[in-house]
Amino acid sequence: MLQAPYPELDDLLEMMGEAGRHLADIEASEGAAGNISVCLRWPIEPRTRFPLVDEISLPQPVPELAGATFLVSGSGRRLREIIDEPTANIACLVVDKDGRTGRIYTSHQRRFEHVTSEFNSHLAVHYDQMVSSGTNFHAVIHAQPPHMTYLSHIPRYQDETYLNTHLLRWQPELIINLPEGIGPVPFHVPGSAELMADNIQALRRHRVVIWCKHGAMARSDVSVKRAADRIEYAEAAARYEYLNLVAGEPADGLAPGEIREICQAFGVQQTIF
Ligand SMILES: [Zn+2]
Repeated sequence: MLQAPYPELDDLLEMMGEAGRHLADIEASEGAAGNISVCLRWPIEPRTRFPLVDEISLPQPVPELAGATFLVSGSGRRLREIIDEPTANIACLVVDKDGRTGRIYTSHQRRFEHVTSEFNSHLAVHYDQMVSSGTNFHAVIHAQPPHMTYLSHIPRYQDETYLNTHLLRWQPELIINLPEGIGPVPFHVPGSAELMADNIQALRRHRVVIWCKHGAMARSDVSVKRAADRIEYAEAAARYEYLNLVAGEPADGLAPGEIREICQAFGVQQTIF
């Protein structure tokens, strides 16, 4: 939930650009992989940046989000390029009163035909979170961090307890920043209804999830960069785990008792260790 004064359209575009570049810096968005969206409930004027308007039908009805604004990356666009020319890579979508259709605002520089093919998953998560928490701001990022994704190909890391007890043992900051741990989502075809449904469930209990054999999704009701940070923390954890596997598992990481001491000192509520 954000308090006034709210970020303006240009600020939001800039933060999406910075998050996109950061995800590219950690090698989590090769080619055109990954997508970013934010949803906000305060009024903004899209036409200053996005003068072209079209009507679209939404992937699902979202009646409680009537009037909400989304900024969404375009299909096939590169996250690292958003920062150079945000309006070429992002569309602005305002939900109509009926919650079934929307106005899509784009710029003359637009370099995409449609919004990201994962928009159904983004919209479903925004809808679920915004209705349940009442927040006025929500950011969602999908990226493909390599160590996290690699580990999700190994069956034992698809188990939630195994995944979290092994990944969150490598740095004191991990349990502090990811107290709910990382939620594994079983493999489903990208863009499918099954992925959308399992993803919503996992993101109710976690702020970052791993789509097994595919990539990660993170959410934040504070900022798009906070969502990117969550992917970076999870990827850092996975990288340590990978290093340990490759080295023949000589290290045990922080012991459960040490992690509980950290949680006590920092007032972290968690049920993983
Ligand atoms: Zn993907």
